[in-house]
Amino acid sequence: MVESWCEPGFHADQIWRWLYCSYASSFDEMSDLPLRLRKRLGEQTKIQTLNPVKELTSTDRKTRKILFQLYDGREIESVSMLQGRAGEGVRHTICVSAMAGCPIGCPFCATGQEGFERVLSAGEIVEQVMYFARVLREHPVANIVFMGMGEPLANYDATLKAIRTLNSPDGLNIGARHMTVSTSGLVPGIKRLAREGLQVGLAVSLHAPDDSLRSRLVPLNKRYPLKELLAACSDFFAATGRRVTFEYTLFQGVNDSPDQARQLAGLVRGMNCHINLIPANQTDSSAFRPSPVRNVVRFQHELQRHKVNATIRRSAGADIHAGCGQLRNRAETERANGMAHKRRSLRT
Ligand code: SF4
Repeated sequence: MVESWCEPGFHADQIWRWLYCSYASSFDEMSDLPLRLRKRLGEQTKIQTLNPVKELTSTDRKTRKILFQLYDGREIESVSMLQGRAGEGVRHTICVSAMAGCPIGCPFCATGQEGFERVLSAGEIVEQVMYFARVLREHPVANIVFMGMGEPLANYDATLKAIRTLNSPDGLNIGARHMTVSTSGLVPGIKRLAREGLQVGLAVSLHAPDDSLRSRLVPLNKRYPLKELLAACSDFFAATGRRVTFEYTLFQGVNDSPDQARQLAGLVRGMNCHINLIPANQTDSSAFRPSPVRNVVRFQHELQRHKVNATIRRSAGADIHAGCGQLRNRAETERANGMAHKRRSLRT
């Protein structure tokens, strides 16, 4: 763009450094750029298109969730989770959204229940990270997980461009091994990602040990059933050497029995993988109930008894609606209640 304005190309490198090394939030800060270029940039481009409209911090102050408004009024969520103790190198993991809404429609997910709005651009994905990098400047960004709203592999080009931008040694320089793409099981996307020559991690939302239940929980399973999905995961490991993580969210009486744990162990037998057990978040509108802790622990023990690597994910930020799409739904409900309250006040 800079060259198309008949400006020397090195100005593009300067702008890049201001944005990704100095976290500049305005063109005025870019003191080594000619004034005319700063003025034109300010008139014709924008550094920040995401507008934080709501922010929640967990009671332990380690998890921050932001509701961003995009330039077209749509809303997305991003989360930052702090790890480590003061004095020992505190770092944070950022969970980003790849879409506003989601077309996959998982019935337990607040985002899935709201439907699909649009994909995000690579810039909008990167900007979520830059926001936290700026406001939490004293703690480096250690990990990025593409686990927020939307299916990142259904927004493949933007997701990949964002990964390459965040990975750039001239910018944030976040190692590919510290980025994880989470998918609901989009097989062509997994195959494509395996061939990129990147060391990014892959997390697959499994949630069920058989096709019939998985098709209910993750409707994409009807298109890419378990056999095809697991074959793609094995190929991903063969191509990248990265062990795949299977995410398994537990719902009471749906997928949390010892029998289902044994079935799951049989399904992944022989694969180099890890199972992440996730105690479900309660969404206001979902009929799915979180499994009680004893069921989650029992499920883990059963997997371990069958020599399957399984850990239970600590539920971060449950007190701030940290589940995907929950904050946006809550904000919409509050706005609707506010409108209803105003209408009532006008009538009385
Ligand atoms: S769980 Fe993920 S894939 Fe399923 S609807 Fe929600 S955001 Fe989409």
